[in-house]
Amino acid sequence: MKDRKTYQGSCHCGQVTFELQAKLEYVGDCNCSLCRRRGALWHFASQQDLRIIKGESELTLYQFNSMTAKHYFCRHCGIHPFIRPRLDPNKWAVNLRCIDEVDLSSLPVRRFDGANWEAAAKALYESRK
Ligand SMILES: [Zn+2]
Repeated sequence: MKDRKTYQGSCHCGQVTFELQAKLEYVGDCNCSLCRRRGALWHFASQQDLRIIKGESELTLYQFNSMTAKHYFCRHCGIHPFIRPRLDPNKWAVNLRCIDEVDLSSLPVRRFDGANWEAAAKALYESRK
């Protein structure tokens, strides 16, 4: 696809590295109880757009509430480079803060009201119809 770039990302200690193919148009900011604490900014990616280069065995899984999303984080440095989001667990949500070359201030922020997940998800599905 045109305008797509390949980005290199990593956790903080560098044991987990990944490659993302994307055309970045916005960042997703979620206010759920976990996101507001970890401060991630998200890009939604399909299964084939994210490739874990190394460190898959260094990832630990955290789950809560509906236990749908898979919040992977590096067991050494604690950083969440990507997750399987509850909105679509077959896809990835990639933490753009883990990609050095992304200028986050140049991208518009799209807020997701994860604190009221059911209503926010419904509104999102409706808007895509
Ligand atoms: Zn790490």
